[in-house]
Amino acid sequence: MIAPPNEHFDTPQTPAPRAAAPVPEAVQHLLTQVVAVLEKGDREEAVRQFLQGASHGLLRDDAPLTQWLTQVAGKDRAARVIEALAVHPCFYCQHGYALCEVCGGSRRSTLGGVCEQCLGLGQSFCDFCNGSGWAAIDFVPVGLRRAVVLARVRLAIAKTRTLLDQPLPAADSQDLQQAGHASAALLAALNRSMGVLENALVALKESIPARLVTPETTAKVAEACARAAPLLDARMRQVLHVMAQVASRQGLNASTDAAREDARRAGAFYERLAQDSFAQTKLEHPFIHRLK
Ligand SMILES: [Zn+2]
Ligand SMILES: [Zn+2]
Repeated sequence: MIAPPNEHFDTPQTPAPRAAAPVPEAVQHLLTQVVAVLEKGDREEAVRQFLQGASHGLLRDDAPLTQWLTQVAGKDRAARVIEALAVHPCFYCQHGYALCEVCGGSRRSTLGGVCEQCLGLGQSFCDFCNGSGWAAIDFVPVGLRRAVVLARVRLAIAKTRTLLDQPLPAADSQDLQQAGHASAALLAALNRSMGVLENALVALKESIPARLVTPETTAKVAEACARAAPLLDARMRQVLHVMAQVASRQGLNASTDAAREDARRAGAFYERLAQDSFAQTKLEHPFIHRLK
């Protein structure tokens, strides 16, 4: 039985500004327009218009954007704008995946057996977003990055709790193909949460000026990651074990020697991965594991 991660991720408060800075008229116009688009329910279009407006040098790196956004839109709408930025899709992949360059989606190595690059999933976790599926933080104007990173951590912790509550696919299912697909999807989702948390740690360190992040905020995020990471890691290993069992059973049902051998190799591969270090595999998350 796996203990749950944090009850919830309690977002650290933005330090109170020294004085309320007036919002420049052009910024006010842009933020109002973005909120209006968001109110219609189109998050991606709202973010696109925001980025387009911001591309004209309107939002300087030292502008107190979180504060301005709250002043213009109010707290609740400001939080929705932050969340729209937080979940904006990666510009280079679909939901954290890209077609595996090694096997071209066939899932098999040219030497026989499972393609180790994509772990036999046919699609590889995207290097640009660390498999998170969300755009790398650098696209967000500097003044909003802290809020966006914290929103991502909150969403990833909530998702982690849901994933850990989800039962493992049954390896003794009648429909082995479906059990294999469900296991692969769960593995990817667990890895995705790990990727979001790891990206958050890296972003706090490398993409946000130190003046905007207090040591308390960094400590709080690190603590949330340190609690979630071993749980995600343990669950991934359980899923890999199911994948190994599914492959073994597929081998028993196979009608040719070649198919039996394929299934045997796949089973051995997943069982080894379930027990080994994830180093040098797409499941490796070195920054988060350094917390241990
Ligand atoms: Zn592959
Ligand atoms: Zn990506």
